[in-house]
Amino acid sequence: MSSERFTLPTRLDAASGIDLHMHSTASDGAFSPTDLVHLAAARGVKFMALTDHDTLAGVDEACAAGRAAGVAVLPGVEVSSQWQGVGIHIVALLPQAPGDILLEGLARQAEARLARNEEVARRLEKAGFSDAWRKAQQQAGERTALGRPDFARAMVEEGLVPDMKTAFRKYLGAGKVGDVKQPWPGLSAAIDWIVAGGGIALVAHPLRYRLTRKKLTALLDDAGTAGAAGAELVSGFQNEDQGRDLAQILTRRSMMGSLGSDFHFQGGPVAPGRFGAIPRTALPPVWTHPRLSEWCRQNGLSDADPL
Ligand code: AMP
Ligand code: MN
Ligand code: MN
Ligand code: MN
Repeated sequence: MSSERFTLPTRLDAASGIDLHMHSTASDGAFSPTDLVHLAAARGVKFMALTDHDTLAGVDEACAAGRAAGVAVLPGVEVSSQWQGVGIHIVALLPQAPGDILLEGLARQAEARLARNEEVARRLEKAGFSDAWRKAQQQAGERTALGRPDFARAMVEEGLVPDMKTAFRKYLGAGKVGDVKQPWPGLSAAIDWIVAGGGIALVAHPLRYRLTRKKLTALLDDAGTAGAAGAELVSGFQNEDQGRDLAQILTRRSMMGSLGSDFHFQGGPVAPGRFGAIPRTALPPVWTHPRLSEWCRQNGLSDADPL
């Protein structure tokens, strides 16, 4: 850790150098955990979380790289769940050590994913993509918990579609042949797993689900009741007016706010530490959560000086 201490901002809208949602090759990101940390460091990120889909596999490597590069790397995971028929992602920050119910839950998620991927492959083969499983596995390297992006990349490689976006639009996106529903745990079960292990649960990218305002508030109410500490106020690039409205919705519910790029790979509009405008708000930042602020102090991040 570099000797220069990073002072945590007291307000979300004063934050910079912070990114609490990113992916590595442990799930569907393009960079290894180490390379991701180096990229983040080069972009001025001082405080980050690695939040791969349903796995903590990249966390140890990222934390070690962070210690060497002077970046505080928070262990995290983005847990897939479902609520009222909608797939909802829950970001867990600071999930606990091995042996807890979150890890058992994630192991079951991996098994379910394996079974589901066999069905995705079977359907894509029927749609004309021969040997889909083997080709997607090739894209994933050693990783066994394939996701739809691996199938998409394999289809691009095969020349069946020009790019990943088209692969999702034609074959893998919502309602398409390769969109095999997975029996994810319910929202409150996923939050239970996280909270029981001492982690902090946050509704990931609330604006990405395209819910009506009424459904969005119901989702946040249910998440709060289940024990979520808050939600991501800004995730990637999002509509500024909607962000302002979200800040109000969260404030009224006494929830906390987090910030993250949801970075997967270069070439898009987001990068480590780079995401949409943060609305003016007094919503408490998630790093002021008692458990997280303790972790921050222990990891070389200091609270803002009292005025
Ligand atoms: P899976 O975990 O197999 O359901 O795949 C979901 C992942 O696919 C998401 O986390 C995104 O990274 C990616 N994804 C979903 N929809 C799209 C899309 N329309 N275009 C590109 N990537 C997508
Ligand atoms: Mn993803
Ligand atoms: Mn997500
Ligand atoms: Mn994500």
